[in-house]
Amino acid sequence: MEYKIAVLAGDGIGPEVIAQGLRLLEAVGARYGHHFHCQAATVGGAAIDLTGRAIDPATLELCASGDAVLFGAVGGPKWDDPKARVRPEDAILALRKELKLYANLRPVKVHAPLLDASPIKAERLKGVDMVVVRELTGGLYFGKPKKRWQTSRGWRAVDTLAYSQPEVDRILRVGFRLAQGRRKKLTSVDKANILETGRLWRQRAQELAAEFPDVALEHMLVDTAAMQLIREPARFDVVVTENTFGDILTDEVAVLAGSMGMLPSASLGARSLPGVEGGPKRLFGLYEPIHGSAPDIAGQNKANPLATFLSLALLLRYSCGLEVESAVVEGVVEELLRAGYRTGDIAAPDSRVVGTREMGDLAVRALKASPSPVTPRD
Ligand code: NAD
Repeated sequence: MEYKIAVLAGDGIGPEVIAQGLRLLEAVGARYGHHFHCQAATVGGAAIDLTGRAIDPATLELCASGDAVLFGAVGGPKWDDPKARVRPEDAILALRKELKLYANLRPVKVHAPLLDASPIKAERLKGVDMVVVRELTGGLYFGKPKKRWQTSRGWRAVDTLAYSQPEVDRILRVGFRLAQGRRKKLTSVDKANILETGRLWRQRAQELAAEFPDVALEHMLVDTAAMQLIREPARFDVVVTENTFGDILTDEVAVLAGSMGMLPSASLGARSLPGVEGGPKRLFGLYEPIHGSAPDIAGQNKANPLATFLSLALLLRYSCGLEVESAVVEGVVEELLRAGYRTGDIAAPDSRVVGTREMGDLAVRALKASPSPVTPRD
């Protein structure tokens, strides 16, 4: 089959990790007989330098007209002026808004060979395999009024935390459905003891649970969740929460995996893509490693590309409907870690330390050598 993918590498280490991801994608295409038409465009700081905008309408159109977007990272000290009118991150916000990507999925798996790479004790990390689902287009980040003004007693500022039932329902349903395909446990995180939006969230989670009788639903206050995700992370299967809580908790759980360079993400919306008769459902989505542009290591061939490879695996699963190929890419990452290959961020004293490009070489080689459970197709 043919797939159209917009590639937005961005700034800093973005282009470095995306270059290796594209090599791996090409290898998947060659091995399994798919055609991935990848078209690149400039976003973030690089786009501000070129056009004065973090993303231009033609790039948004390119993204909207394809099956998926592969995103690197944006930002860097050059564009960090807090008073700047345009910021590299505007590109991400515009993409989420224009492409109506309301569900951010962050799978967090602690790979056995990396148990010692995390600052958390290894015995607490065994068996950690969860997905955090974060609502992406509502809540404090977008609620109005949102402003800062001067008064006779100094500055005041206001942000608005607002959610509607349809916004809450659709993200909770993403959580329930994901849990159905996994260990059938959903933890809904809110602040129902204090916030009205939290009470709405809890009420709708309880009501929707009737549609998913096979899923065990639990509610957890966000402060308790922040503690439990570190104390007992293996107890979680799917966690669903609103925008701000999700933003904070997902960075917290990134620590479990040992490095920002290990964690992928998928941002999905309501748009489904034409699929094969009787085949898996395909959704338009944006896929990116969760890390930023890492200016401290940019241009040094030190960036870990594994989060990008795992993001590609999500792209193959959700937007291409290619479950086998997705699992093969995840298997390649496991195999490289088992063989002891590490970029500096996850290196242990006995590791075989490699650079970004070398990790790409190894991944392509492992993919070509992986046992193929399917016959190559046209
Ligand atoms: P960061 O994720 O870029 O880096 C944090 C630390 O993790 C750094 O020490 C970095 O070297 C390390 N790191 C991150 N990714 C790595 C990888 N793949 N391999 C090895 N080490 C890795 O976060 P930051 O330093 O807070 O932000 C840097 C810039 O990135 C800022 O301009 C920020 O606004 C931007 N940012 C962008 C995104 C995005 O594009 N989605 C997300 C977060 C931050």
